[in-house]
Amino acid sequence: MHVKIVGAGIGGLAAAARLARMGYRVEVFEKNAAAGGKAAERRELTPAGEFRWDCGPSLVTMPAVLRELFDFCGERMEDHLALRRVEPSCRYFWTDGTRIDEDGAFWERPDVARYLARARGIYDLSAEAFLHHAPRDWWRALGAKGFAALRHLPKVATLRSLASLNARHFRDPHIRQIFDRFATYNGSSPYRTPATFAIIPYVEAEFGAWYPEGGIAQIPRAIEALARRQGADFHFGHEVTNLLDLGGDAVLCNADAITSHAHWLPDASRARRMQREELACSGFVLWLGVRGRSGALSHHNIFFSDDYRQEFREIFDERRMPSQPTIYVAITSRTQPGDAPDGCENWFVLVNAPAYCHANTRGYQEVILRRLAEFGVAPDPSRILCRADFGPADFRERDNAWEGSLYGWASHSPRTALLRPPIRHPRHRHLFFCGGTTHPGGGIPLVLLSGKIAAEQIGRHFGP
Ligand SMILES: Cc1cc2nc3c(=O)[nH]c(=O)nc-3n(C[C@H](O)[C@H](O)[C@H](O)COP(=O)(O)OP(=O)(O)OC[C@H]3O[C@@H](n4cnc5c(N)ncnc54)[C@H](O)[C@@H]3O)c2cc1C
Repeated sequence: MHVKIVGAGIGGLAAAARLARMGYRVEVFEKNAAAGGKAAERRELTPAGEFRWDCGPSLVTMPAVLRELFDFCGERMEDHLALRRVEPSCRYFWTDGTRIDEDGAFWERPDVARYLARARGIYDLSAEAFLHHAPRDWWRALGAKGFAALRHLPKVATLRSLASLNARHFRDPHIRQIFDRFATYNGSSPYRTPATFAIIPYVEAEFGAWYPEGGIAQIPRAIEALARRQGADFHFGHEVTNLLDLGGDAVLCNADAITSHAHWLPDASRARRMQREELACSGFVLWLGVRGRSGALSHHNIFFSDDYRQEFREIFDERRMPSQPTIYVAITSRTQPGDAPDGCENWFVLVNAPAYCHANTRGYQEVILRRLAEFGVAPDPSRILCRADFGPADFRERDNAWEGSLYGWASHSPRTALLRPPIRHPRHRHLFFCGGTTHPGGGIPLVLLSGKIAAEQIGRHFGP
């Protein structure tokens, strides 16, 4: 039995390793020169030495999901990948001078602990079914523990937004904004995403925030090597342009589901329906190679905008770059000195951007640097040794991401959050999907789970 996989993002790689382990002949076709998709890395040689940056993800949650993939393949994750806990997982800054570290003491604040206890109920009810199974298998998957957790159903079924839940829960506007931000983990607005997503901070508090030694790109590298050891073959520089002509007993597409329907499948009306849904945001990345060290910063830092609601209005309603963005700065050389030359730092700067390839990003580097200057942390231009940026049009170009959206549909309604494009195509029954644009959603642990669910569905359909 022969499975052809389109795309070597983390979801496709996880499925490749599992399917090869299950005894299938597996071939992976990847348009780019290397595996990893959005979890790529960038290097630049300057007169001071070499800088290394992550290109996309910078934090790993739910490490058990990654470990289970290696277990499934009969190996130990620790032999191939060293995950280190990041503490504090984030340092938050406001222009009024407030600074809060997301560390053990933060999660134990009484108001935060009460919130997490509530979110835990939602997690207990929904995690096993939602994260590990396709929607049609949810009731079967609920199990005895899940049925006991049904008492939490009113919390899950709420039509309230995450922001309104947070506003009822937290008096301190700074704490509220921290918890609102978790909606952006799936590319959504806190003012529109259902309160159910309170499970995101619960997951971060309960299972920790982690970073792999050597950078995020070590994750796809380690999974690619795992898949190869199980017998999977890889073809790089091979862009698939027709999903039905590829041959093989089954095809598993790890590329963006909306782009796939628009360009590589013949069903135009289904493609149009998929394009009508609101998209999750894109990102604008700025890589800076900086001489010197910035005292106040940690490994992960967030500089909040003064008007969060306006920021999301501009991104989702007006589809333009935010005039005053919330800025994320990750400096991995703080914990991995080899990522920057001696006496230098590698700044990975990220802001949320509209999923719109024609968004005007000209001059936006300066918008970011001016805003960082208001916090007193912008590097002086004379200290910037190199810089480059990457926006929505680049995500479309490099990853085939529809309009540059990082996760396909936004989770702005229970339907688009819970019933995403399905893993198995309803008409072409040998065609399956995995990755951040399908079920259960984007982010490293979720795309790993998506690869798992897809491999299991293929196993159920075609047998071992
Ligand atoms: C800026 C940014 C920050 C992020 N931060 C985090 C974070 O901190 N933590 C976290 O967990 N997640 C984060 N994410 C999300 C995470 O990176 C993604 O959800 C995940 O890596 C996507 O995996 P995927 O399996 O969907 O595949 P993708 O990464 O989307 O890869 C798909 C692959 O398919 C290939 N492909 C596309 N079309 C074709 C074709 N026609 N033929 C052949 N190959 C094709 C592409 O080249 C690509 O390699 C972030 C993402 C970005 C971009």
